[in-house]
Amino acid sequence: MIRIGQAGIPLSCKGRTNKDGLVYTKNILDLNAMEIQFVRGLYIMEDEEAEFIHDFAKENDVELHVHAPYYINLAGTDEELDLSFEKILYSAQTASKMGAKTVVIHPGYYGDESEKKTLKRVTKSVKKLQNMLKKEKVNTKLGIETMGKQKVFGSLDEVIEVCQNVKDTIPVVGMGHIHARTNGSLKKREDFEEVFEKLKPLKLKHYLIHLTGVMYENGNEFYHVPIKKGDMPLMPLIDLILDKNYDVTFISESPLLEHDAVYIRLQVEKAIMKRTGREEADYRDLSEIV
Ligand SMILES: [Zn+2]
Repeated sequence: MIRIGQAGIPLSCKGRTNKDGLVYTKNILDLNAMEIQFVRGLYIMEDEEAEFIHDFAKENDVELHVHAPYYINLAGTDEELDLSFEKILYSAQTASKMGAKTVVIHPGYYGDESEKKTLKRVTKSVKKLQNMLKKEKVNTKLGIETMGKQKVFGSLDEVIEVCQNVKDTIPVVGMGHIHARTNGSLKKREDFEEVFEKLKPLKLKHYLIHLTGVMYENGNEFYHVPIKKGDMPLMPLIDLILDKNYDVTFISESPLLEHDAVYIRLQVEKAIMKRTGREEADYRDLSEIV
């Protein structure tokens, strides 16, 4: 199955609440996923809105994820750790109320520490967090995102290692971030194959994939750009996913948000049409190609 959505309230949606954004994603864009952004500090969501979102998403089969605030450091000082735990816990509790599948987090920074030591610290913090979530009966999974800058913890290998060491956590595969961090390594089908090969030990049944174009230099991401402006092609990735019948959710985190989510959809449907020989396709229906 392929799901497609965008990170945040669609730019073209006049209402600026998450509730408005979700209804718009389903009714106007006809997409079936959304990642709700709690990224600007601590966003407080009223129970009423969370409940509406829960019911609407369930009735309309829209898969939800939540992105926790950006400024989190699970390798930081005790004080930073406490603040990070607080933000993530709140995000996860709200995510759970909405019925979201994942709460996405940026793991943290190396600071002056070695990569190895940072990995240990992050793993320890994630374990602690996982226990806190369990205690609070939160069943939304922690998603550790791959990061696009050298000084930020979160190469694909590091994220996989954390997920291997902490049960029930999943990697959030930011293809644009991986592409930037490896200085543009994702160009061909084999390059994407390598990513999935690395993920294999985690035995994932579903992949949460972030997509965006990205400007980078020397293995560092500068900023996100529209998918078509970047140099990471989508087709080899889509072809691979269709061939392997992977269960994926694509979240556009391009500056064009929903416009690029729709672009992803068109590309997926183009790939389906190529396989079926028909002139129409619906990204939700893969029955004829499987
Ligand atoms: Zn992120």
